[in-house]
Amino acid sequence: MKVDGELVLKPGKERSLARRHPWVYATAVARVAGRPAAGATVAVRAADGTWLAWAAYSPASSIRARCWSFIESDPIDADWFAARVGAAVARRTTLFDATNAVRLVFGEADGLPGLIADRYADQLVVQFQAAGVEAQRDVLLDALVSATACANVYERSDSATRQREGLAPSTGVVRGAEPPDLVEVHEYGVRYFVDVRRGHKTGFYIDQRDNRRLAGELAAQLARAHGRTPALLNCFCYTGGFSVAAARGGASPVLSIDSSADALALARRNWALNGLDPAAAEWRAADVFDALRALREEGRRFDLIVLDPPKFAASHHHVERAARAYKDINLSALRLLAPGGRLLTFSCSGAIDVDLFQKIVAGAVIDARVDCQLLARLAAGTDHPLLMTHPEGEYLKGLLLTRI
Ligand code: SAH
Repeated sequence: MKVDGELVLKPGKERSLARRHPWVYATAVARVAGRPAAGATVAVRAADGTWLAWAAYSPASSIRARCWSFIESDPIDADWFAARVGAAVARRTTLFDATNAVRLVFGEADGLPGLIADRYADQLVVQFQAAGVEAQRDVLLDALVSATACANVYERSDSATRQREGLAPSTGVVRGAEPPDLVEVHEYGVRYFVDVRRGHKTGFYIDQRDNRRLAGELAAQLARAHGRTPALLNCFCYTGGFSVAAARGGASPVLSIDSSADALALARRNWALNGLDPAAAEWRAADVFDALRALREEGRRFDLIVLDPPKFAASHHHVERAARAYKDINLSALRLLAPGGRLLTFSCSGAIDVDLFQKIVAGAVIDARVDCQLLARLAAGTDHPLLMTHPEGEYLKGLLLTRI
């Protein structure tokens, strides 16, 4: 194993590493010994010289190092990376009973900080979001191909996280052949097309798998309870994930809103792919904030509403503005929700924790002058786990409310 230098921490700054938190902030570092390159493996030491962790050096980032291991005898070599990748893939095996769209590696949570690897059918899509995994890209790609027997890997390293690491965007084929224009996947019996080249993230919101299924179940329950098909409003519908899943459960009519015409075009194709009636679907290319007000003026009512907006708070600096935006859409949605109806409302802003999100939505409930019960708190699927020692990894949260 090659160790290219050392980070020596300031006195007292070893505490978070003792708790196995995987990040070393630049402000905690007293000095760098040797001349480690970006992404090189370094030893992290306490001020008194005690060895703390092996980590990847990120000279450009405020997260100056991301830990690979807290075990000094771990050799951070190709075999070690292959074992980490293999273990992450093996932990997901049972998910393939339900779907073939699975996140195989989820960064810090899988002990590979900065690496995202998703599988869509036999196509792999990767993101290298930190200097450490970037430096190991060939080793990691070989390990992914061998752990999955998927020959084709496409890179989508075009996220903002990468810029903060001082890395240029990088996209394209990294192993095997070009992906098809659209990859077809299935999830709990629902079929979806995924655009791995141009889609959001790596092409699809894999993290919402269980919540899409829940939308289908809620539609079926409401249909039974009301003796008629429930009307669905899906805001920020992207490629129609919740629309199709709920329609398969019996929701009709389904109104889907997104500002992106491209997303809506693929949503329509996903609707057709599932054999759903085009007459039961309405697609609106619009700003959700405006559209919700317009729907109120039109006197529309819905039995099931999904709000799954993009990340409104990019960081802690934007929490207040984001809170106003979350409250705004939740208030508008609650005004459109029929008595007995269900609201599925989400936030994927890591800077807004579940308690704050619940407070924001409660504020919307109060202003809407309705009574609502909280039926469930929702999160990302089990292929997006949260490392218990890294609470920053929590981002997607949702609430299921019913209007009584
Ligand atoms: N629910 C989706 C994912 C939603 S992603 C799924 O399960 O697949 C967020 C979507 O919101 C994107 O498609 C983006 O185009 C859209 N969007 C962002 N801001 C918007 C706005 N102000 N009005 C309408 N759509 C918006």
